[in-house]
Amino acid sequence: LLEVTGLCKKFGTHEVLRGIDLSVDRGKVLVLIGPSGSGKTTVLRSINGLETPEVGVVTAAGGIRVDYAAKPAKKDILALRDRTAMVFQHYNLFPHMTVLENIIEGPVQVKGVRKAQAISEAEALLERVGMAEKRDVYPFQLSGGQAQRVGIVRALALKPDLLLFDEPTSALDPELVGDVLVVMKELADEGWTMLVVTHELAFARQVADEVLFMDEGVIIERGAPRQMFSAPREERTKQFLHRVL
Ligand code: ATP
Repeated sequence: LLEVTGLCKKFGTHEVLRGIDLSVDRGKVLVLIGPSGSGKTTVLRSINGLETPEVGVVTAAGGIRVDYAAKPAKKDILALRDRTAMVFQHYNLFPHMTVLENIIEGPVQVKGVRKAQAISEAEALLERVGMAEKRDVYPFQLSGGQAQRVGIVRALALKPDLLLFDEPTSALDPELVGDVLVVMKELADEGWTMLVVTHELAFARQVADEVLFMDEGVIIERGAPRQMFSAPREERTKQFLHRVL
């Protein structure tokens, strides 16, 4: 469904990504773990076209190919963004719009969906995550867990091929984390293709088809969760898991 090869990104002289290769098959859940600052967010942002790496190729279903070394055309980056949708750590909802307005903004403004249709789809999605009664409130009236469920619905409303989650629970109070993880698990069970950056290793163990461990801008190791967590091959993976488990 999506393949990334040789992604390199610098901020100034700091090499944040140093040749990232990864692929995501349709219907699979990949969880990307690694120490703070290892470049996980930058990988997601590069796949979503929010960051411009110097080198690297992203190919996606539908013949999309973005070669960053060759100054990709804006339309190719927009095509990539169209097929992926990001759920952010801090929700990034528009504060001056209601929940419903936040959700239909992308479908109506970017995808040209008729407003009535966008509204009925948004309502159905809100119902699914237990948020139907919040459709007309503003983001500041929501708890973090509710805001993040809206963030997820907003991504789903775009009907992407690939959902990108950037530490979706790390800004939440501990008692709210579970609600969001339940929704994510349901999406995985429904067959959504997901690339998830998270520190929730129990979630990774339960839901991931594959876990990737990244450090200092490189994917060090990838494997099934059971193998990664119980018998990591690489020394750096062992050290990281030893610190966090
Ligand atoms: P965390 O788990 O803390 O979110 P991460 O693995 O997601 O970390 P990134 O957010 O991808 O890491 O950041 C990797 C490195 O790039 C960090 O050292 C960060 O300070 C740096 N960085 C990220 N964005 C920028 C930017 N816009 N300008 C300069 N440096 C940046």
